[in-house]
Amino acid sequence: MLANQFHSFLFDLDGVIYIEGEVLPGVVDSIRRLREEGKQIRFLTNDPRPQRTEIVEKLSNMGVDTATEEVATSGWATAEYLANRNTEKVFVVGSDGLRAEMQNAGMQCVGKDQAEAVVVGSDIEVGYRDIFMAAMQIHGGAQFIATNIDATFPTSRGPAPATGSIVAAIETAVSRPPEVIGKPEPHLFTASLKGLDKSRAVMIGDTPESDIAGATRAGITSILMKSDQHNGHPASLESGMKADYTITSLIELFGGK
Ligand SMILES: [Mg+2]
Repeated sequence: MLANQFHSFLFDLDGVIYIEGEVLPGVVDSIRRLREEGKQIRFLTNDPRPQRTEIVEKLSNMGVDTATEEVATSGWATAEYLANRNTEKVFVVGSDGLRAEMQNAGMQCVGKDQAEAVVVGSDIEVGYRDIFMAAMQIHGGAQFIATNIDATFPTSRGPAPATGSIVAAIETAVSRPPEVIGKPEPHLFTASLKGLDKSRAVMIGDTPESDIAGATRAGITSILMKSDQHNGHPASLESGMKADYTITSLIELFGGK
């Protein structure tokens, strides 16, 4: 049984736990069973918009009980990363949830005052003024930090601009790349794995380019949750994006189909 090999389970959210707000089949039972067996569970998302507590509430409404400490967003991981480096003032391009995570970690979100770091997430309200201010802050000496660089997210009308599109606008203006915190970079994984035995941890995700590549770079085992988008073309994947195992439902962790 696959689950027996691991003690810590890191789950991507979208495409593994739920799709478009609907919990996927087998998820509730599988998570409950892992808990009964005393496994450690973490939920990882590149979405920098919500506070971790909002994710806890969302999961709870789906029948998946979890604690704030078990949730890692790219926004929270960015706050941890900067707070650990004694950052005090940040300029945030993004949501109120992202600003709240910075404040939870003890940092102040500034406007015109010089910040030590510009943190880029996404929000429907982000506009030219934000990009302008971010560029000026970086010219003034602020570090350029991207919560993630995902280009788009899927919608029923087609791919919509995600954080990476906003990052690209600022990157163009300042002619230098950001430091990236979310998947596939290791920071989100490192923050999630704190206190856990890495050698007995596994990442379960549906996107080879972020979940599996990130797990490989973080040095942990990976399981690809197959979705329609990625079925059937494993040979085309670059090295590091090939998962150690493949499943189609979390129930398969326990040997079922
Ligand atoms: Mg996903």
